[in-house]
Amino acid sequence: MNTVKIKQAATFTLQSINQLLWPPVCNNCGKNICEEDKNLCENCWGQLHSCTGGDYCPRCGKDASRYGLLDDACPDCQGKKIHFDRIARGGVYTQALQQMILGFKNGRTELDSTLAFLANSAFQGSNFYNDIDFFVPVPLHWTRRLARGYNQSLIVTKKLKCPTAAISTDLVRIRQTKPQPIMVSPAARARNVAGAFAVRYEHRFAGKIVCLIDDIKTTGATLNECAKTLKEAGAAKVFALVLAVAGQNIN
Ligand SMILES: [Zn+2]
Ligand SMILES: [Zn+2]
Repeated sequence: MNTVKIKQAATFTLQSINQLLWPPVCNNCGKNICEEDKNLCENCWGQLHSCTGGDYCPRCGKDASRYGLLDDACPDCQGKKIHFDRIARGGVYTQALQQMILGFKNGRTELDSTLAFLANSAFQGSNFYNDIDFFVPVPLHWTRRLARGYNQSLIVTKKLKCPTAAISTDLVRIRQTKPQPIMVSPAARARNVAGAFAVRYEHRFAGKIVCLIDDIKTTGATLNECAKTLKEAGAAKVFALVLAVAGQNIN
């Protein structure tokens, strides 16, 4: 047996022992799965698929028939001031996707690969895939990042595949904002984040095409405020990529 074969045999044995001691489980619900199931059980994959299909408005990301769009915007978005140019979404914030995003925010960082897979699919399906100079994760205030230990949007950003884009963390949150419960009005949410972001002195956003990365979009107040700040800093275009869009019934 040559060295390569011995190494392969050793790896195979180690994998078998690992599977015996720690059988693979679904990253979302904990049910036993086989190695080929790729991190989730059949039920959770099924739920995830039902959260991710369907047409949506490229301005707000909410469910919308492509035939109901006028100038690439749904009726809700007509005449609204939206600072980001377009949005791509992984899916709708419900069922397994909702559970996974909440888990991911609360320490279950092992969900990163599955969520990044979703983000990459959405990004590759968007029409701004080839244009991005900078990925910018929506920043947390440093006190929240310290409490959580990580910025979930930055983790996803690091796993995005794009030959042209670099990651920039030159957008910062300068003011602590209140957590935004889902039922608060869009106007109240906009007030909560107004003036909460700034760019670092040495930023390189002037003339560049930027893609903001966030986990959940609800009314879009946070993304809108970030996009406004980036455009004031000279960004030519600002797109948004989110894992999920919530609040389908909130205008
Ligand atoms: Zn499961
Ligand atoms: Zn819309």
